[in-house]
Amino acid sequence: MAIATPTERWEHAVYACARTLQQRFPELVGDRMESAIVLVRDGQVAENADEQLVVASRSEPGKFHTIRPDGSCLCDDARYQAPAGRCAHRIAAGLYKHAHVFLQQQQQTPHAINGQTPLSEPDPTSIPLTSPPPTTPNVSHAAWGSNHRSIRTIVTDLSRPLPAACIATKTLRAKSGKSAQIAYLHWTTVAKVLDAYAPGWQGTVERIERVGTACVITYRLTIPCLEGLIVREATGQEEEEVDGYGDSTSNAEAMAFKRAAAKFGVGRWLYDKDPTAQAVDAYLTQHIT
Ligand SMILES: [Zn+2]
Repeated sequence: MAIATPTERWEHAVYACARTLQQRFPELVGDRMESAIVLVRDGQVAENADEQLVVASRSEPGKFHTIRPDGSCLCDDARYQAPAGRCAHRIAAGLYKHAHVFLQQQQQTPHAINGQTPLSEPDPTSIPLTSPPPTTPNVSHAAWGSNHRSIRTIVTDLSRPLPAACIATKTLRAKSGKSAQIAYLHWTTVAKVLDAYAPGWQGTVERIERVGTACVITYRLTIPCLEGLIVREATGQEEEEVDGYGDSTSNAEAMAFKRAAAKFGVGRWLYDKDPTAQAVDAYLTQHIT
């Protein structure tokens, strides 16, 4: 594989180091490791003026955790929950250092790209900083193949709400005469989000059926990831006589596609209109750290 751009080389280094760390320290497999990979990959780890690493909080935007010289972090997770105090920030700091060392060694021996990082230290956060490259690449999401990433990480990325400007609205009128403004995503938006976070995704129309006057389409969406191919299916339905634009088949397909993507997290927040949705999210967040 030709490693062309700085972004690609950085991502390759991050994933290669993550893989090696996981082989060396099997206890690092899990959500904290997944979070750490995303933080490092996305440039959320940086060095401050005191040469300490700071790591962005994933739960509170704008907040940063400073990693102390001994590698420890003072966040609640490190203090009260994470085994051996290895919170996602601490793991991210270790991974960041390894990835920089890995990149430097590759620059010295450009042919040594085999996915293995040379690790000699017993603790993933204990490698001292050598002089790091001047900047952390500002990573775009399009450059890596999603088959290097676990489905959990991909779904986390896909589930992130989009800014309001990306969300379309339309007015639906019921037969009673009442109308309601609803928010939705264009199917092209959903495809772009999948392209960005789950490159290699495949969508196929499984079935087209006629139910009464409606066209029902079953759509199958497949995402390649670390675990293999993950599949979600959904149906979409559209009455033959539609007031809007487009024919019933393509409208039903767009709906089925979007609902299958929502099962992977894309735009799911738009479907979460029920007041129980927030409580469910809060409960799950609390129990999966
Ligand atoms: Zn922490």
